[in-house]
Amino acid sequence: MADRDVDLFVIGAGSGGVRAARVAAGYGARVMIAEEYRVGGTCVIRGCVPKKLMVYASRFGEEFEDAAGFGWTVPQPTFHWPSLTANLAREVTRLEAAYTNTLDKWGVTLAKSRAVFEDAHTVRLTETGETVSAETILIATGGWPHYGPDIPGLEHVISSNETFHLPELPKRILIQGGGYIAVEFACIFAGLGSEVTLVYRGHNILRGFDDDVREHLRNEMQMRGITVTCGHTVTAVDKAGDEFVTHLSDGSTVTTDKVMFAIGRRPNIMGLGLENVGCHIAEHGGIHVDEYSRTSVMNIYAVGDVTHRINLTPVAIREGHAFADTLYGGKPTRVDHANVPTAVFTEPEIGVVGLTEAEAREQCEKLDVYKTTFRPMKATLSGRDTRTFFKLLVDGVTDRVVGCHLMGPDAGELIQVVGIAVKMGATKADFDATMAVHPTAAEELVTLREKAMSYGRAAAE
Ligand SMILES: Cc1cc2nc3c(=O)[nH]c(=O)nc-3n(C[C@H](O)[C@H](O)[C@H](O)COP(=O)(O)OP(=O)(O)OC[C@H]3O[C@@H](n4cnc5c(N)ncnc54)[C@H](O)[C@@H]3O)c2cc1C
Repeated sequence: MADRDVDLFVIGAGSGGVRAARVAAGYGARVMIAEEYRVGGTCVIRGCVPKKLMVYASRFGEEFEDAAGFGWTVPQPTFHWPSLTANLAREVTRLEAAYTNTLDKWGVTLAKSRAVFEDAHTVRLTETGETVSAETILIATGGWPHYGPDIPGLEHVISSNETFHLPELPKRILIQGGGYIAVEFACIFAGLGSEVTLVYRGHNILRGFDDDVREHLRNEMQMRGITVTCGHTVTAVDKAGDEFVTHLSDGSTVTTDKVMFAIGRRPNIMGLGLENVGCHIAEHGGIHVDEYSRTSVMNIYAVGDVTHRINLTPVAIREGHAFADTLYGGKPTRVDHANVPTAVFTEPEIGVVGLTEAEAREQCEKLDVYKTTFRPMKATLSGRDTRTFFKLLVDGVTDRVVGCHLMGPDAGELIQVVGIAVKMGATKADFDATMAVHPTAAEELVTLREKAMSYGRAAAE
C-alpha cells in the first residue's frame, strides 16, 4: 500500500465524494480528490441549493397577493431577475468555499482537474497530464442531463444547468419533462411571472409518484396558469429571431423565449476510461455496485448518482460516509435505501415517504387508505383557490403506516418528521394516539378516522 501515491483517490467533489473524502481522511487515510468543475457538485452548484432559493423567490408573488386578505396593502411588487441570479451566485460561491475549506481542514488534497482512469490503480489528471496511483478509487461523478433523441434544433435547448445563469427571466418558456426537476422549474418560472408550457410524453406528470398526488399537482399547476400537455413530445425546435418555435408530436407548435428539457439524468461515466478497468455497468446505465458500494473491480467503489440507486443528495452523502466507515473506520456499513423521504418543491409542495397506493396494493395482503383534502386555513382569508392533500396508506394486517403522501405548505418539512415515524415502523394506532397540534394542517395526520378505501381481504368482506 505504501508505494502508492495515496490511499484513496476520489473522482468528483460533489455530495458523495466530499463526504467520503473527508471522513476517510478523518480516519487517517491519505486522500486526494479531483473536481473538474466546482467543488460542491450538482447539489450546491446547480441543483438543490440554487433551485430551492429560486423556489423561495417564486413564492413571494402569491404571498404579496395573499397579504391583502389579511389587511395589508402592498404596492405593486416588481421582480428583478438579475438581482436574484447575482445573489444566488454569491451564495453558491460562499458554499463552494466552505466545502473547499472542509477538504483542506481534513487534509484532503484537491486537484482542480478532470480525472480519468489509466488502470485500476491509476488515474490521470487531464489538466496537467500527471498520473496518481491509489490503493482505492472512489467514483463519485454524479449524473448529467439527458436530452433524448437528436431532434432538429436540439442545440437551442437548455437544461436545468443553464437556468441559473440566464441573463433575463424568459417571458415564455416551454419545458419538456414530467419528473420532479421539470415540474419544480415549471412552478418556479410560473411563480416568477413567466408563461409556462409543460410538455410530457406520458399520460400524467410525476411518474413513479402516487396517482392522487400526480393528479392533484396537475390540477394545481393548471390552476396557476401552467399549460400541462401530456401525451406529446418535442419533435423539433426552430429559432425565429429571438424566439423559438417548438414542434410537438401532434403537429402543433408553441412559441416561447426559452426551451428547456428536463427529461432525466444519466450516470456520468462518459469518457471516464472505465473500459481501462472493466467496471460492470448495470442495465439502468449506472455503475453496478454491491451493498457496500464496491464495483465489480475489487479496489474500485462508486457512490451517489453515478450508481443510479436513489438519486438524491442525502443518499449520496450517506453512501459516501458508509463507504469511508467501511473501508477506513473498521465499521462495515450498508446504506438502507428503504423508506427514503423526499420532497418536490412545487406549488403546492409535495412530501412523500414509503409506498404509493399502487405499490402498497401489490405488496400488502390488506390495505387501508386514508385521505383528506381541505382548504388550508390561510386560504380562508386570502381567498386563494388551493387545496391541501394528505394520504396515509396502512397495512391492514400489521397496522403499519407503509406510505404517506402530503401536498401543501411545508410538506417537505413535514415529511422529514413523518419519515422518522414510518422508519421506526409506526402504526396507524400510534398516529391516532398522538395528540393533535392545533390549529395546524399537520393535525389532520393524527385525526384521519374514516377509511377512504380498503383493498384485499377487507374489500371482499
Ligand atoms: C436541478 C436539480 C435539482 C435537484 N434538487 C434536489 C433536491 O431538492 N433534493 C435532493 O436530495 N437532490 C436534488 N437533486 C439531486 C442531487 O443534486 C444529486 O442527487 C446529488 O448531487 C448527487 O451527488 P453525487 O455526489 O452523486 O454527484 P454530484 O453532486 O453531481 O457530484 C459529482 C461531481 O463530480 C464532478 N465530476 C464528474 N466527472 C468528473 C471527472 N471525471 N473528474 C473530476 N470531476 C468529475 C462533477 O463536476 C461534480 O462536481 C437535484 C439535482 C438537480 C440537477
